[in-house]
Amino acid sequence: MRNQQTTELLFEQSRAGSCAVHMPECDVPARSLEDMLPEGATGSPPPLPELSEPDLVRHYVNLSTQNMSVDTHFYPLGSCTMKYNPKRNERLASDAGWLGLHPYQPESTVQGVLQVLWECQEMLGEIAGLPAVSLQPAAGAHGEMTALLTAAGYFNDTGQRRDVVLIPDQAHGTNPASAAVAGFRTVEVKSTPEGFVDLDDLESKLDEKTAVFMITNPNTLGLFDGQIARIAELVHEAGGLVYLDGANMNAILGIARPGDFGADMMHFNPHKTFSTPHGGGGPGAGPIAVAEKLGPYLPRPVIARDGETYKLDFDRPKSIGRVRSFVGNVGVLLRMYCYILTHGPDGLRRVSENAVLNANYLLNRVKHFLPVQYGDRCTHEFVATAGELRDRRGISAMDIAKRLIDYGFHAPTVYFPLIVREAMMIEPTESETKATLDAFAEALFRITEEPEDLLHEAPHSTTVSRPDEVLAARKPVLKWKGEG
Ligand SMILES: *Cc1c(COP(=O)(O)O)cnc(C)c1O
Repeated sequence: MRNQQTTELLFEQSRAGSCAVHMPECDVPARSLEDMLPEGATGSPPPLPELSEPDLVRHYVNLSTQNMSVDTHFYPLGSCTMKYNPKRNERLASDAGWLGLHPYQPESTVQGVLQVLWECQEMLGEIAGLPAVSLQPAAGAHGEMTALLTAAGYFNDTGQRRDVVLIPDQAHGTNPASAAVAGFRTVEVKSTPEGFVDLDDLESKLDEKTAVFMITNPNTLGLFDGQIARIAELVHEAGGLVYLDGANMNAILGIARPGDFGADMMHFNPHKTFSTPHGGGGPGAGPIAVAEKLGPYLPRPVIARDGETYKLDFDRPKSIGRVRSFVGNVGVLLRMYCYILTHGPDGLRRVSENAVLNANYLLNRVKHFLPVQYGDRCTHEFVATAGELRDRRGISAMDIAKRLIDYGFHAPTVYFPLIVREAMMIEPTESETKATLDAFAEALFRITEEPEDLLHEAPHSTTVSRPDEVLAARKPVLKWKGEG
């Protein structure tokens, strides 16, 4: 009998003579193996593992159960919005009608999907309060880059030499990275002790070189910066554009529209806000919405409607060109379409109200033993600190995160944002029940009372406990080095 949770590789489990396939003798005359092999190849078969079919199946099924997922565990990973993904979205997106489509089909034969994508553009434009939409970008960060290139197209075309992107110090790491990739220089803007944009610092850095001010609002601390209209005024007076990182739209859907509070450009993360399975790097999408004056510079094609007919509009001479093959990650956009339509405007507003309610409920349960430095109220997420526990007992945010796994919870985001020591960024999302939030808060509290040694060595329930985080990322061992 084999260990059900073995970490042995198939090669190590191999037993000579075991076989997972049992086929009747072939009754069709076959050429001999030697005849089929290329000239010079020897006849000995490669040393593949030999296992019975049940052992093979158990190996992979047991491996699959070692994952944590939204479908198996509460997953409060701050900034990532790991909400539950309704299964009807999956069913819709995997309908044979969509799966059979080919991107090179004539437009007249794909009117249905073009109509859906056109409606996606319209709906996102409405939610953003910004009328011109491109569905092409393949992820949030890709949307940031695309919008910045769109802005560059606009400045070039209007003869403005602006090459500086201003970014608050609590911005998501993709913001400065996207600005650099799009060819801008980045300048950091300070935050106030309360975690908002320091207006004096912003004003001192705005000038005729300012191209774009990028802001995540609500920000990574889970705070909505109420100065946003004034910020937009200042940036616009200096001739710059305001970019809104829309990754946190799940806090303000149907409540506030970025276009109404001064943004000129934004991206959506459908895989966060509109529920698509994500993690492990994708797939996602990063559609962007921009102000009317920036519309002509968006990637082409966009989806256009002409009477009752839908088409890919390539006739856009000022476009920055393509950023993605075909029209974008259609499978993700279909899930988004289903999510938006099944909720409707009132439902989307309730999504945000519940996301904010859940986060505030948890904040108020957790702050008594893991203090929350910035704000007693939050939007969709909050950042607690284990700094005091670290000083007093040597317990780190990492220890707590690892120990949560033993309690059956995915860890929150830790050590981000950088402006909070021993940060634990917790985002419960709207799809969790009060009972789950209570169980999580109780587990967190019990962990903070546990002996130091137990925590330093957690998790205790997994096959691998604490890999060297740096080595595991930089020198992953991906190859079996057996004999032969
Ligand atoms: C997730 C996230 C991004 C990047 O989005 P991807 O789809 O992962 O590229 C950008 N900004 C914020 C605030 C985010 O949370």
